[in-house]
Amino acid sequence: MRTAVIGGGSIGLAAALACQGAGHSVTVFDPNGFVPKALSGEADARVWALGQKSTSLLADLGAWTPDERVCGYQSMHVIDARSDAKVTFTESSLGYLVEADWIRNQLLTRVTDLGIHCVCDRVGSVSERGVLMLPNDQVEADLVIFAEGRQAQTAIASGFEVVDGGYRQRAVVGTLRCEKPHHGEAFQIFTEYGPLALLPLPNRDNEHRVSLVWSLDQETATELQEYAIEALALKISQTSEWMRGALEFVNDPIWIPLSQHSLKRDSLGCLLAIGDTAHGILPLAGLGANLGFGDVSSLQQTLERHPSAHGDRIARTVARERRFDQRTVAMVMGLFSNVFRSDQPLLQLGRSVALRTADRHATIRSLIQELAG
Ligand SMILES: Cc1cc2nc3c(=O)[nH]c(=O)nc-3n(C[C@H](O)[C@H](O)[C@H](O)COP(=O)(O)OP(=O)(O)OC[C@H]3O[C@@H](n4cnc5c(N)ncnc54)[C@H](O)[C@@H]3O)c2cc1C
Repeated sequence: MRTAVIGGGSIGLAAALACQGAGHSVTVFDPNGFVPKALSGEADARVWALGQKSTSLLADLGAWTPDERVCGYQSMHVIDARSDAKVTFTESSLGYLVEADWIRNQLLTRVTDLGIHCVCDRVGSVSERGVLMLPNDQVEADLVIFAEGRQAQTAIASGFEVVDGGYRQRAVVGTLRCEKPHHGEAFQIFTEYGPLALLPLPNRDNEHRVSLVWSLDQETATELQEYAIEALALKISQTSEWMRGALEFVNDPIWIPLSQHSLKRDSLGCLLAIGDTAHGILPLAGLGANLGFGDVSSLQQTLERHPSAHGDRIARTVARERRFDQRTVAMVMGLFSNVFRSDQPLLQLGRSVALRTADRHATIRSLIQELAG
């Protein structure tokens, strides 16, 4: 089968490897190229918290060789800033904190080693029958996978319809030196401005490091974006209740616009949308890449179960299987965002009860962990 993958981000590359593994002849298109990013010095600001399901998939695709840049985490401690509610998840390995560029480099190495055809071109649009329009050419495929990220321009030009899920916010991400060790614990605090996470990173030169993800409402983000970097670090130390002691940025923080979206349908004929093209969610618990790798797992299993199915059946089956997961995660994240931001007494009470219940009941904690990847 001839398979075209639009987008050479981590999700597109993982999909390309899954299809190649099923015997397809695969071509990946990305106008930004396929050169691995040189990683040196401090950890990049864009870090992903990958769950066991994602790392198992990556291992299966031959793209998971953890080194000193990867940090396993064994517990997650979540507290509410406006009550004494808390919940702690502990397991021998809850998941791994990895730089987004590190993962893409691993996948790129594997794609290159296997000789998968990579083309530095932007795909303009694709017909429902699988004809790709390139700047100077047309290419036919039996299965076309859209993994071009949030903007989804080619998907929209090809007939996919975006449903705006709202929740316009901004996140600040960055790498921080911290006074206290993290002992492999991910920390998250729900504040009135939005959830703030300090995620464990490997030590550097015997100093402790954490990765910050703080999702904020627009008003607070605009205000904090004016702060000097030292004042912002102090604000984060205070807001995180000094859980990791005094914090200091080791590189400039990055401000990222956030929103939720989905597609009306994730498949059209032999066209299938996956990753951020199909679903944009708030990175409250670091679910974006895990959901995308979940799409790739479903694609891999569908190809195994139906080795001689046509492209449109594969696209339809994966889209149907993934719909439930995507909808559930988007709904839960939206709910979390509203409930944890509100100061209404009833919602405050609900928040406290929810965290206390989760803290006492292993089954609820397992369910949340299952959702997280
Ligand atoms: C602040 C923040 C923190 C996050 N933290 C986490 C986390 O902790 N854990 C987690 O799991 N997720 C996290 N995420 C989400 C995660 O970053 C995304 O889900 C993930 O990057 C999606 O990967 P992708 O391959 O679908 O898209 P992208 O990484 O956006 O890749 C898309 C690729 O497509 C290419 N492209 C674009 N247009 C075209 C075209 N027309 N033709 C061909 N190629 C094209 C682009 O050049 C790019 O290479 C976070 C997101 C944010 C904003």
